[in-house]
Order: sequence, then C-alpha cells, then structure tokens
Amino acid sequence: MTIKLRCEDYGFECDFVLEGEKNVSILEQLRKHFEDEHGIDYTTEAVTQMIMNRGHSLESIRKE
Ligand SMILES: [Zn+2]
Repeated sequence: MTIKLRCEDYGFECDFVLEGEKNVSILEQLRKHFEDEHGIDYTTEAVTQMIMNRGHSLESIRKE
C-alpha cells in the first residue's frame, strides 16, 4: 500500500510531496525533509504522530 505525504499538510508553505510504500522509510524521508528544508529536527515519534493525526493507521507505518 502506498501513501502520499504533502509537506503543506503539516503546516508548511511548501510544495514538497512524498509518495511511496507506507513504511518507516517514507516516514524517515519526511522527517529528513523537515530537518533539511525547514530546520526543524522532529523525532521519528513526532513525525509518526503527525502522520497518524492525518488519519493514517499506526499499524502500517510503525517501526518493526
Ligand atoms: Zn517542506
């Protein structure tokens, strides 16, 4: 199952979009984007929570 994550959905004026398999890898890519592009060093847990708040289930994205 794939997921589409849009940076603007997380409060930034930014057209960055990530699309791919719903797993920790894409979560890490989003976390890295926040850090590299917006200078905000979220924890993986915080990013997980943000994605869950957008209606995605934890089962499909949590760490192994
Ligand atoms: Zn962004």
